[in-house]
Amino acid sequence: MAKLDTLCVHAGHTPGKGEPRQIPIIQSTTFKYETSDQMARLFDLQDAGYFYSRLQNPTVDQTAAQINALEGGVGAILTSSGQAANLFAVINIAGAGDHIIAANNIYGGTFNLLGVTLPKFGIDITFLKADATDAEIEAAIRPNTKLIFGETLSNPGVEVFDLERWASTAHRNGLPLIVDNTFPTPILCRPFEWGADIVTHSTTKYIDGHGVSVGGAVVDSGNFPWDKYPERFPGLTRPDESYHGLTYTKAFGKSAYIVKATTHLMRDLGAIQSPQNAFYLHLGLQTLHLRMKRHSESALKVARWLQACPDVAWVHYPGLSGDPLVKKYLPDGCSGVMAFGLKGGRAFDNRFLDALKLITIETHVADCHTCVLHPASHTHRQLSDEQLKAAGIAPDLIRLSIGLEAPEDIIEDLEQALNAARQ
Ligand SMILES: *Cc1c(COP(=O)(O)O)cnc(C)c1O
Repeated sequence: MAKLDTLCVHAGHTPGKGEPRQIPIIQSTTFKYETSDQMARLFDLQDAGYFYSRLQNPTVDQTAAQINALEGGVGAILTSSGQAANLFAVINIAGAGDHIIAANNIYGGTFNLLGVTLPKFGIDITFLKADATDAEIEAAIRPNTKLIFGETLSNPGVEVFDLERWASTAHRNGLPLIVDNTFPTPILCRPFEWGADIVTHSTTKYIDGHGVSVGGAVVDSGNFPWDKYPERFPGLTRPDESYHGLTYTKAFGKSAYIVKATTHLMRDLGAIQSPQNAFYLHLGLQTLHLRMKRHSESALKVARWLQACPDVAWVHYPGLSGDPLVKKYLPDGCSGVMAFGLKGGRAFDNRFLDALKLITIETHVADCHTCVLHPASHTHRQLSDEQLKAAGIAPDLIRLSIGLEAPEDIIEDLEQALNAARQ
């Protein structure tokens, strides 16, 4: 198989003679057929083909195929956002009356989706610490548990998830492991190699990489044996009345899960990505291998500089720690995201943030522009210091996302802002 760098540039698009070198944007809601029977066969899932862009579109599919090739799956779909990707990944196999398990250090948006919104639809959840023991995980599993969910590198804590251990505990109990791989991207970690069954992405972050389009992806490894547990996964292993009694595992084998996500969830919920956004993602993917390397190298330089800085109380960047999980899962770099705290207190923090020139204050991470966010003053400003601590967020935590500028310029900006804050 081609190396990742080559897949970034070529996967998903092999033009024939006289065809466009770059993927075309197929900005069309619908597609033409010649006989009534041709159209009928598409609706019965007897033939594959495009008929309506709410379900599938060629531009969207080409970019999905590119992400699928990088992750090493059997199929992928693109969604309108990362939130939609995680929603689809879960409700493709869990519904009212079911139970799911998730690590508690996941992204705030996903925490709310799984912990507040899905329970309103009858899906129960247990959150566990990301370092829960195998016995603790097993104690949380119930007869109606359908899946386990975690984040390879958590946002914003940048903690590394022990993929192999969680996957083997899940599999011992007949459950799939779904992993949000947004921060590492497949360039730095490929969760399927460690036993994860389904991977999701907020492509809004590094895969786009330029801050232009919100999007998401779901990728299927094809490895989970749904047929072995027909009672637990009836949506995949029993006839679907909305397709004249078709059974996904019988009709689509290893691709049952991802085909159902398109033909059932996309058909009914419609959170598809637009062809234009898929085109931007395709461009982002073509340089992802170069960018992830540079984000990781620059972040390590900045993290080391911060660590040596007298105004800095602490720095958390996985690349600085000797954590064996970092060596195991992220040997090629830890992305550009880190967190640190300053010694001077809240007023000092604010003077520092206000004095930054190159680095911007943004509710975003993981693109080419270096940016900061101070959760206590911004996203979580309604919480007291005690409430922040209870939510696992240090009141002095500043999240820093290293972009693609020269690392020397990023450090110079941090230095001048710290000097200004001391005045
Ligand atoms: C941003 C993010 C999401 C949500 O993605 P959107 O594209 O903003 O909907 C999900 N998971 C992680 C890890 C994220 O960083």
